[in-house]
Amino acid sequence: MLNILNFKKDELKNFLVENNFKSFKAKQIIDWIYDKKVFKFEEMTNLSKSEREEFGKILEVSLPIIVKVQESRDGTIKFLLELFDGNLIECVFMMYDYGNTICISTQVGCRMGCKFCASTVNGFLRNLELGELMAQILVVEKYTNKKINRIVLMGTGEPLYNYENIVTFIREMKDKLGMSSRHITLSTCGIVPKIYDLAEENLSLNLAISLHAVTDEKRKTIMPIANAYSIDELIDACIYYFDKTGRRISFEYLLIDGLNDRDEDINGLISLCERAKAHVNLIPVNEIKENDFKQSRKINKFHNNLLKNGINATMRQKKGVDIDAACGQLRLSYSK
Ligand code: SF4
Repeated sequence: MLNILNFKKDELKNFLVENNFKSFKAKQIIDWIYDKKVFKFEEMTNLSKSEREEFGKILEVSLPIIVKVQESRDGTIKFLLELFDGNLIECVFMMYDYGNTICISTQVGCRMGCKFCASTVNGFLRNLELGELMAQILVVEKYTNKKINRIVLMGTGEPLYNYENIVTFIREMKDKLGMSSRHITLSTCGIVPKIYDLAEENLSLNLAISLHAVTDEKRKTIMPIANAYSIDELIDACIYYFDKTGRRISFEYLLIDGLNDRDEDINGLISLCERAKAHVNLIPVNEIKENDFKQSRKINKFHNNLLKNGINATMRQKKGVDIDAACGQLRLSYSK
């Protein structure tokens, strides 16, 4: 049985024609799945009875099982999902003034080893397939009965190391859900060659860089990727991305007590933002038991200094503080 969620729209049309069905059936099926959230062929009532039976013999809508749901008082909902092979992933639904947002995972586990992140503790297992990326949206929209307006690729995994599937996913979001890539943000720890590749894709995608330190020496102590690419190389790639796409870059900056919250860090951050024409998202570090990092109390000072120097800076709104909020922790607690 083939998982229909792994088909691109054009591939589905071709597949149906090869199996002696009309190509326009693809649009009908896609409407049922992505618009009406109907996942069983026997319930797709504008298909003939024989079509429903035939499709049901060769195709399926393979969705992950919801293993656990944690609902916060602020409307944030965290999902632990089991994939067809038993692997677990997380995704999070959040409500903001500007619309409903989902944060999705792009890999099972992560090999990048960032010291502040629970998602990497048990290493990398595999990339998520196109259908598994799609399924996170479908499961959450069905569960919440709410339309997702924005997608952030900031959950478990380094999206640029699942490059082909991610680029296809972003294109298919437009084709199947009508979602512009302007409403999608990809967060990377800074895979420099892939940022250049992404700039050539003709997508108006928002790019967020997990920066977290302003010198190579300090960055290397918390992010192993800094051993492969210097901050200089990363900033050059950001400038190229901005020039090519017109989409402004944002730097994600976790504030960690005593590590990256000194005055020299503020000054370094200001100068990197000026070079890359980037804005900054300041984030209090999640205190997880896998490390000793503590939240900095200087977040307001950082914020004010950045604004005073003409840098567009925001402090990430805390969401889901009363649930297992740190990325990767829910999965970790079930994997042990
Ligand atoms: S922060 Fe992102 S890239 Fe780094 S280990 Fe966690 S999931 Fe991987």
